Amino acid sequence: MMREMNHGDDKIPKDHPRYQSLTFRHKIIEGMKELVVAEAGLIAHGRGECFDYIIGEQTLETAKKAMKAAVALLLISKKPVISVNGNVAILVPDLLVSLSKVIPAPLEINLFYRKEGRMEAITKVLTKAGATRLLGIDESHMVEIEELSSNRRIVDLHGIYQGDCIFVPLEDGDRTEALRKLGKKVIAVDLNPISRTAIWADITIIDNIVRVMPEMIKIAGELKQLGKGELKKIVDEFDNKKNIQETLNMIIEYMKAQKEEAFRVLKNK
Ligand code: ATP
Repeated sequence: MMREMNHGDDKIPKDHPRYQSLTFRHKIIEGMKELVVAEAGLIAHGRGECFDYIIGEQTLETAKKAMKAAVALLLISKKPVISVNGNVAILVPDLLVSLSKVIPAPLEINLFYRKEGRMEAITKVLTKAGATRLLGIDESHMVEIEELSSNRRIVDLHGIYQGDCIFVPLEDGDRTEALRKLGKKVIAVDLNPISRTAIWADITIIDNIVRVMPEMIKIAGELKQLGKGELKKIVDEFDNKKNIQETLNMIIEYMKAQKEEAFRVLKNK
């Protein structure tokens, strides 16, 4: 019998063309009920889905290149940190813990919406996934980044504050800019290739976080065999601006093909 997923009142068959996408949407909704995801996180996810659609819900070659450079940079950094928000915590908790261990780089919870109980809910999800040490939760270690006015200015002294390379999946542009101004290297994962985050980051991975995490863990396993010099070469040879431009060209080509296909169907309808 075909396996089904319970999506609200509806049963989604496993061979539904949007099964994957609906599964993650369902996780986000459940995450909101458990306080892990903020209400605005639902909207951010929807925006992500829209951009995922126009890249064909696939990992582009440009994203793979960016991931390789990102892993190399994380491996050569002295104090790399992985910043975690509610959406990322609910979508890929186990993979966050795995990446944190393989680099190694600590996980720091950093939130825009600090609703009561949220920090605890996210801590619970990550701990259940195997996280043994989490930053961003001990009030006595928290300091403020002056360059930022939102809640995300509150960071951990032993994490983002001292970190030299911050991995920021699903970020807001203001913080990416602030982290850059503080002299930190920023690696972003963002499906929107023209968001302020994408433009401001040192390395921009234009892909869905659910596809990025397993790929980065795999790459980390491979690149850990290399020496510092070779890793540095990978980072130096990567051109973020060119990579974003190439991604935009790929999106244009994909959309042109989709347009042709839609016209063909419409004509024969
Ligand atoms: P910016 O300030 O950088 O212009 P924004 O204010 O548009 O960004 P948000 O509304 O906070 O950003 O949305 C977060 C971003 O995360 C969006 O650009 C969205 O495309 C992206 N996003 C959402 N879900 C995912 C996902 N699963 N994987 C990768 N990116 C995602």
